[in-house]
Order: sequence, then structure tokens, then C-alpha cells
Amino acid sequence: MGVRDDAEAIAPELTGLRRAIHREPEIGLDLPGTQRKVLAALDGLPLEISRGTALSSVTAVLRGEGAADHGGAGGPVVLLRGDMDALPVAERTGLDYASQTEGVMHACGHDLHTAMLAGAARLLAARRRDLPGTVVFMFQPGEEGHAGARHMISEGVLDAAGQRPVAAYALHVASADWPAGVVSTRPGPILAAAEVLSVTVHGRGGHGSEPHHAADPIPAACEMVTALQTLVTRRFDVFDPVVITVGSFHAGTADNVIPDDATFLATVRSFSPEARQRMHESALALVGGIAAAHGLTVSAEFRDGYPVTVNDEAEARFAAGVAAGLLGDERCLAQPNPMTGAEDFSFVLEQVPGAFLMLGACPPGADPATAPNNHAGDAVFDDSVLATGAALYAELALQRLARS
Ligand SMILES: [Zn+2]
Ligand SMILES: [Zn+2]
Repeated sequence: MGVRDDAEAIAPELTGLRRAIHREPEIGLDLPGTQRKVLAALDGLPLEISRGTALSSVTAVLRGEGAADHGGAGGPVVLLRGDMDALPVAERTGLDYASQTEGVMHACGHDLHTAMLAGAARLLAARRRDLPGTVVFMFQPGEEGHAGARHMISEGVLDAAGQRPVAAYALHVASADWPAGVVSTRPGPILAAAEVLSVTVHGRGGHGSEPHHAADPIPAACEMVTALQTLVTRRFDVFDPVVITVGSFHAGTADNVIPDDATFLATVRSFSPEARQRMHESALALVGGIAAAHGLTVSAEFRDGYPVTVNDEAEARFAAGVAAGLLGDERCLAQPNPMTGAEDFSFVLEQVPGAFLMLGACPPGADPATAPNNHAGDAVFDDSVLATGAALYAELALQRLARS
């Protein structure tokens, strides 16, 4: 039987695993319950398994026995990644397997990624005798803002097989935008770099009736907010765009009291390392200059950054070809533009050529154009894509190893 048929045959187990993880979502780098479920799902397979120390990751290595037939000792290595963490979102789906933890939900579909990757491990382990190389399965906590991938890299996931992977792939489900089972990717940038710009303007508090005896930080901070938008339109190429949104602004306690400080936070998105670097330099210079012009000082920094997620040109084309071969041309779409979201798989792709692919999981009967999106409390991801995703992960590894 082919990989797809085998994947359909284990679909009930994958659905069971996915729903068990969905019922008990966990946030951040420490996901002990999810880790336990993954280890149980991998139990009995011929894998070398290690767990993280700084985070509850699982790294599983499958060494194929087919490389010797091709003249290579161990053959090349391919890495497959699935993230496992949930979000601080209150679930409103009303599903019978909905979250049992108040205020926590698998609203980004990482429960599906975990189950699909465990399924791929099953499918590939069954083909171990002919597998012409090694597969590293990267079960990763903390994608949502905790840079779990970076932690796993510093704990050695890229060297888990004893040599660097030749390629790395990740899938991401979407509750909207694409019908269930449709794959979409593109060569080059596919997701934005994201980071926080944190600014505190330091003045000198005083009576609101006598501002000349104080140093008011609020007007200067307001100027910075609008000047950052001007910076975007005047200093950046429209074809290499950046987005800045000031989502938090705090200063003061009363109408007649000038505060000492004003603080704001912005999310900053960019699509090339050059634009990102230019934004770092120009935004810090801008807020410093405005503060100085008003006789104030400012503390400003960029933090919590994820780099641009850049698909390798050749690997993205290869992955799209594998998807089209597996699912049919009509279910594999070329994505015209990058998305403004961000991903810490970008840290892997900085070191290993590879591709990040979207997999539509919009439930049948819902309209992908209007269905609730990832991160919404009523986002629903359809279980029918679990077999598709597991088969796609497995085929990517099989075909990439066979090609090397
Ligand atoms: Zn997310
Ligand atoms: Zn996600």
C-alpha cells in the first residue's frame, strides 16, 4: 500500500491523539502532559528518543537501513518539525473534545501538527528497511512567542542524528483561507520577521497647570507614534514592506499630573533581513532624535524577535512537487505573497535549507473566506487533514532522502 493509504488506515488513532491533546492544551515551553502523550504515541517504534532539558521537547531519530544498498553508510538526514503548544485563548467552539482548561486553547492547530508528525513517524518506521537515510522528528514546545525552536537548536536538535540535515520541513494548518486538504507554499520569504519595539520616554513629572516647570514625556511619545508611520512610508521600499502597529501606550494617572514617563509597545513586521536591520537602526534613531529635540531621554529596544521565515527556492519547489504528486495539482497552490504572521521555524531555516507549507483545515461546510481564523476562540480545524498531513510529512522525507 502507498503512504496515503497507510495514513488513512491510521487516521482513527491520529484523530484520537489530536483530540486528547486538544482537550488538555498547554502553553509555553513546559508541556509535560503533551510530551507524555507524544512519548506514548511513539512507544514501540524503532526510534532514538531524547527529551529537552530547558523545555519539554521530544527529539526522535529514525535511522533507515536502505542507505547501505545505495552505497552510503548512514545516508543523509532530513528533519521534520511539528510544534505542540497552545494559546491563552478561551475556546468557544462547543466541540465535544473542546479544551477542558479554562482560558487555554489549541487555537493555532498545533495539536494537529503533533498528531501528524507522530503519524509520519509511524509511517516511516514501517518503511525503515528501505529508507535511504535518517529522519529527525522535532516535537517542539513554545512556538507562540517563546522561541522554542531556538531552544531546541541550542540543545542540539540539528545535530541529533550525528550530522546536519540536508533539508527541513514544517507544515502549518489553517482554519480559514484554504479548503481542507489544500497545500500552499512559495519559494523565498513566506512569513514575516516579528519583534517588539519597546519605548520608554523619560521626562520629569509636575503640575499639569505649569508644564514649563516639568518635562512632559506624553507629547513627545505621541510624536514618536505618528513619526514611526511616516518612517515606514518614507524610508522603506514599498516592494519590501514593513508594518508597525503601536498596540500599547501608557502614561500618567490623572488629568492634572504630568508623569515622569510614557511607555509604548509596537509590533514590527518585515520580510527581509535588510529591511529588518534598517528598521532597527532607523526606529531607534528616530525616537532618540525626537526625545532629544524636546530635551528628554528615551530607552528603546527591539526584543522577542523571530527572523523572516525564508523558504529555500529549490526546497520549496521540491516540496510543492511532492504535495502535488501526493494530492493532485488542484490541491497544491502557489502562494502569491508572504503572510504577515511569524514563525520560529525561521530559526531552523536560517541554518538548514527547507520549506514551510500551509495546509488548509477549514471544516467542510464552512467558507474558507469567512471562517474564524487561527488564534480565534471559535476556530475549528478539521480532523480529515490529519492523514493528509502525516502522509505529506512522510513523503517529503522519503522523496528527499531518495533524491540525495
Ligand atoms: Zn499561532
Ligand atoms: Zn502556529
